[in-house]
Amino acid sequence: MRVNHEVDALVGPCGRCGDSVPFDVVIDNAIWRGVPNEFRYGVLCLPCIDRVLPEGLHPDSIENVYASTSHGTVALLPVRAK
Ligand SMILES: [Zn+2]
Repeated sequence: MRVNHEVDALVGPCGRCGDSVPFDVVIDNAIWRGVPNEFRYGVLCLPCIDRVLPEGLHPDSIENVYASTSHGTVALLPVRAK
């Protein structure tokens, strides 16, 4: 996926892997408190959130996902794949 940080990305780059973060993911605060302090106050991409949480990121803990384009930001509805 092409990501232009100046146009597309809401935030970024990820403080752990350095990749761009085109999606802003909102997770339950209780789950976020499980993120190690070294990453908790910065930007993390979704795969890194999953990796740093001791038990991984459960899909039900994702409350909202936002994506940004040059025409604006949209909220994506998180739906658990079957
Ligand atoms: Zn990352």
